[in-house]
Amino acid sequence: MADPRLRLRDNAPGRFFVDSECTDCDTCRCLAPGLFARNDEAGYSYVVRQPVDDDEADELYEAMDRCPADAIGEM
Ligand code: SF4
Repeated sequence: MADPRLRLRDNAPGRFFVDSECTDCDTCRCLAPGLFARNDEAGYSYVVRQPVDDDEADELYEAMDRCPADAIGEM
């Protein structure tokens, strides 16, 4: 389970976030490219935009389920 205390600063304000346990595996960016982006300098992903509808929320939950580092969370 992602830890809100480790939430990365890059995340867009809102309920979903990536924490500092991200291993930059690219899974979330492939599954939901409109919702996740990469910090190229630091080498991690973050939520670049919060979902605006149920379809996008489903994409994000899919990424959450498949994240091998359990680095995607919901507040
Ligand atoms: S799926 Fe998880 S570990 Fe992989 S890039 Fe996304 S947040 Fe990081």
